Amino acid sequence: MMGLKSWKIARIRGVDVNLHISLLLLLPYLVLAIGSRFGSVARDAGVSAEALSFGAWGWGFICALGLFASILIHEFGHVMVAQTQGTRVDGVTLMMLGGLSTMDRPPERPFAEFRLAIIGPLVSLALAGCFLALESASTQPDLKFLGFWLSRTNLALAVFNLLPAFPMDGGRALRSLLAVKRGQLKATQTAVKVSTVFAWSFGVMGALSLNIILLLIAFFIFAGAQTELAFLLSRGLLKGIRAGDVAIEVSPIAENQNLIACADRMIKERQTVLPVITTSGESALVSLGRIRTIPSEFRDTTRVRDIMSVVRRSLDKQEAISDALSELATSPGGSLPVTSDGKIIGIVRAADLNEVLQLKRLEESAILSFGTHVGEPTGVTTEPSEKSGGKAA
Ligand SMILES: [Zn+2]
Repeated sequence: MMGLKSWKIARIRGVDVNLHISLLLLLPYLVLAIGSRFGSVARDAGVSAEALSFGAWGWGFICALGLFASILIHEFGHVMVAQTQGTRVDGVTLMMLGGLSTMDRPPERPFAEFRLAIIGPLVSLALAGCFLALESASTQPDLKFLGFWLSRTNLALAVFNLLPAFPMDGGRALRSLLAVKRGQLKATQTAVKVSTVFAWSFGVMGALSLNIILLLIAFFIFAGAQTELAFLLSRGLLKGIRAGDVAIEVSPIAENQNLIACADRMIKERQTVLPVITTSGESALVSLGRIRTIPSEFRDTTRVRDIMSVVRRSLDKQEAISDALSELATSPGGSLPVTSDGKIIGIVRAADLNEVLQLKRLEESAILSFGTHVGEPTGVTTEPSEKSGGKAA
C-alpha cells in the first residue's frame, strides 16, 4: 500500500508528513457521508443547523479535515515517544484508516514497544477530552458543533486503535505484553492469531450487513497481521548476517560523470544500479530506469547528479542487515550503498536478500523435517512455512 503513491505535504520535527492517495479518495466520501447526516449530527450536538456558519458540505469538509488532523496528532504522539527512545523516524504517512510511521528500527524491548504503542490511543483520548471541554464550555454554535464532532471522532480513534489486533496500536501493545513472558516470536504468533480472529469477525459482519467499511477493516487487519509476521520472520532468519555478507561489489561513480559514461559502465559491469560519490557526502544511487527517462540526445550533457536518487543512508559492511530491512524495502530501486571505513564498496539489493531468505527457509525446513534439529528452539524454527511472503514492508 505504501509504494502506491503518496505526496510529501510538510516536515515537522525532522519528520516528513506524507499524504497517501487512499486518503484523497476517502475525502469526498467523508464529505458526502458527514454532509448527508449534517442535520441529525447538529441535533445531537444540541445546536440548530441554521445557527451554524457553514452548510452541510462546508461542515462535511471541515469535519473530514478535523479527522485527518486528529490522525496526524495521534501519529506524532508515536513519533515523539520513538524519538525519546532514540529511534529515528523518517516519515509519517496519513492513509485511509489511520497513519503509518516509518522508523529505522522498531523497538524489540517489550516495555519500549508498549509505551510506543499505547501513547497513540492516549493522545486521542486526551484530544477527545479537550474537545469535550470545548463543547460543554462554548455557547457559540460553531465551536459547540466542532467540539461535539471532534470529541466523538477522537474517542472513536482511541477505541479503534485499542483493538488488540495488528496493525492497530492495541495489537502491538498486546504483543509487547505477551513478549515479556514468551519472547518476541511466540508473542507475535499469538497476536497474529488474535488479529486473524478479529479480521474474520469483521469480515463476516461486513458481508452480512453489506458494510464496505467493515470489509475494508477486515482486509486491513488481515494484511497488517501477515506483514507483521513476515517482518519478524525475516528479521529472525537474517540475524547474524551483515551488510558485507550480502553486498555486491561495485565501484561507485562520480556525480559529475555524464550519463553516457554511466550507461557504459552499467553495460560493461552488467549492473542496473550504481552507488554515487557525492561532494555533499549524501548517500545516493543512480539506476538504469532513471537514465532511460532522459532522451538519448541529452545524455552527454546530463550529469549523474541530475538524476541520482538520494537515499536515507549507507550501510556499513559490519552492520546487521536485519536492522536495515524497512529502509531497504522503501529505498528507490530496493537498494542501499554499502561502505567500509566510510568508502563505498558496493550495494545491497532487496532482491538478493529475498534469495537469502528463501534459502534460509529451505535450510530451516530441511533441518526440521529430518528431525535433527538440536539446541535452543528460540530461533525462528517453529514455523518454517511459506506463510511469510516476500520482502518485509
Ligand atoms: Zn497509533
